[in-house]
Amino acid sequence: MPSPSTPLPPHLVYRDHQLVMEDVALASLARAHGTPLFAYSKAAILDALAAYQRGLAGRPHLICYAMKANSSLAILQVLVRAGCGLDIVSGGELERALAVGCDPERIIFSGVGKTRSEMRHALQVGIGCFNVESEAELEVLDEVACDMGLRAPVSIRVNPNVDAKTHPYISTGLKGNKFGIAHERVVQTYLRAAACKGLRVAGIDCHIGSQITETGPYLDAMDRVLELVDAIEAAGVPLEHIDFGGGLGIDYAGDTPPSADALWRQLLERIDARGHGHRKICIEPGRSLVGNAGVCLTEVLYLKPGDQKNFLIVDAAMNDLPRPAMYEAYHRIVPVQPRDEPGLVWDVVGPVCESGDWLGRDRKLAVKPGDLLAVLSAGAYCMSMASNYNTRGRAMEVLVDGDQALVIRQRESAQDQFRMEQLLP
Ligand SMILES: *Cc1c(COP(=O)(O)O)cnc(C)c1O
Repeated sequence: MPSPSTPLPPHLVYRDHQLVMEDVALASLARAHGTPLFAYSKAAILDALAAYQRGLAGRPHLICYAMKANSSLAILQVLVRAGCGLDIVSGGELERALAVGCDPERIIFSGVGKTRSEMRHALQVGIGCFNVESEAELEVLDEVACDMGLRAPVSIRVNPNVDAKTHPYISTGLKGNKFGIAHERVVQTYLRAAACKGLRVAGIDCHIGSQITETGPYLDAMDRVLELVDAIEAAGVPLEHIDFGGGLGIDYAGDTPPSADALWRQLLERIDARGHGHRKICIEPGRSLVGNAGVCLTEVLYLKPGDQKNFLIVDAAMNDLPRPAMYEAYHRIVPVQPRDEPGLVWDVVGPVCESGDWLGRDRKLAVKPGDLLAVLSAGAYCMSMASNYNTRGRAMEVLVDGDQALVIRQRESAQDQFRMEQLLP
């Protein structure tokens, strides 16, 4: 676990006893807008993207940001303007991609449960590729495309059966997962796809999991995918691109994932050594582009010391930051204006009526009611997973750019929440 002296994520520093993101004091954001509040560093997002761009420089490639990590429109704009395409998993995410002006050719549609109407819309606008996850889906997509007189570009998501060594809920490349098509059925599935009038085979796809912090599983998966590429082409079905998914981890608790450029240097060596150096590479990173760029600011409401546990009750909760409750995930929690006192060990918990509503356990903090805390590494899978449980409005979001702070999402009111509901007559 990180100690107080562990370096902070990029573009966060303490300056004059104040936590500062780029050149904005986070306490001033909380004063101006209230809490809970998510703040994101634009420079941190662009730096994370630049590492991938360096790693893939000089190769035909497409980086499609997996927007489920954080699908706020302004965040998408930052990445699309910097050259990203988008990886989507629903019709709603397609609408977001179009709303920010993403070139449809640079949209990849992933996910195990695409509906006919989602397929129709994606075909209408002309997306770049459907990543197909089952033979049944392949059949339906063929039917929908034939009906429209179109050919759907497809990749088949293969399940390479490698252990990504991550949390079981975010591991997706093992045989027991719902994702992808089993290794041994891949070639026959490609032959079938190639024979469909409504389909055009474009590539091959795999995504083995999330928060992967070792290089080994990626290298193993690449070997298996390249074996399949050889087998598929030997069977007479040419492939244009290899989509290697996302999944690279970030530092939450002293994790040491490889950097994106170092990882890709190694993967490209593999690709070159096996004679596939000419191929277009697509990737779908999510967490590693935005995760460490965000913090969630929260105010300490009450101190509740006890015999067995000391509880520190804050105004952010599991509806804002679901990862601890969902995966027992660890987020660092640091004071925004640290006190020069020793502090006590606390469980940091939210106001929601569930024992699972905790943000951090056994954290040494010196705080008083009214103090501000920053939950770190909150840029990915936080706001995009936020809910209205307990009729709590979703938090405000701010994008920090140098000394500027732009509100990119207003705080959600109770009226916003029940706007779609109907009182009885
Ligand atoms: C979630 C997801 C990603 C992104 O994963 P990260 O771990 O956030 O990089 C990429 N591709 C697919 C198919 C996904 O489901």
